[in-house]
Amino acid sequence: MNPDIRTIVILTGAGISAESGLATFRGPDGLWEGHRVEDVCTPQALRRDPALVHRFYDERRARLAQVRPNAAHEALAALDRAWPGELLIVTQNVDDLHERAGATRLIHMHGELRSALCAACGAAVAWEAGLPPGSICPGCGQPALRPDIVFFGEMPYDMDRIEDALARADLFVSVGTSGAVYPAAGFVQTARHYGARTIELNLDPSAGSIWFDESRMGPASLLVPALVHELLA
Ligand code: NAD
Ligand code: ZN
Repeated sequence: MNPDIRTIVILTGAGISAESGLATFRGPDGLWEGHRVEDVCTPQALRRDPALVHRFYDERRARLAQVRPNAAHEALAALDRAWPGELLIVTQNVDDLHERAGATRLIHMHGELRSALCAACGAAVAWEAGLPPGSICPGCGQPALRPDIVFFGEMPYDMDRIEDALARADLFVSVGTSGAVYPAAGFVQTARHYGARTIELNLDPSAGSIWFDESRMGPASLLVPALVHELLA
């Protein structure tokens, strides 16, 4: 790998957690765990049927106890520990497998299952148990806690920090994402625009494949450790 690479940004999507046993989003059937995205992933759905939406994320949160990070999460955590330059892992995933593998330079741009968000005061609260609608915010006392998930139409977290890192990146890597969900799908173009080399690791070509200098096709558990090995060699 080019020795001039100092700053690395890695974008991960549902595909990196697939081999841990978590279903991807669109999957072959276009559903997330049997649900239409519009029914569990929009502010409208939350207003219309809060019980359904809360239950959906309660199930996803409970499932985390049954899965473990795979070789791809472990390799990125090893890179995070060893990389002397700037590095940022931006995940679209709401699972906690990156941090359980030990990654620390990490942004959850679409929120986290193990967090609750107060719709009244905006506080985010660490949350492990079920989260029925009307749960009380420990900060402001309002019955306003909702899943801390960025729904379609809502602003992803930490976009300023992400854009900053993309502008400085020498290498941009995308892992296990379909390239269908914006703004994440546009990160490759931003990174390229500022001069980064761009590599995609995915099971099959994503919607944005043409924007990558290099596309490697295969399972993340093989491709990510191989790339990390090259970077640390
Ligand atoms: P996606 O489901 O739209 O796309 C997943 C991509 O990963 C596909 O292109 C697929 O070919 C690829 N893939 C599948 N298995 C793979 C493997 N073993 N190795 C490498 N690649 C593999 O996912 P997305 O682009 O991340 O968008 C989905 C949205 O849904 C995200 O915003 C996320 O918040 C949410 N989501 C999260 C989780 C999670 O946290 N684990 C799971 C499902 C959906
Ligand atoms: Zn509150």
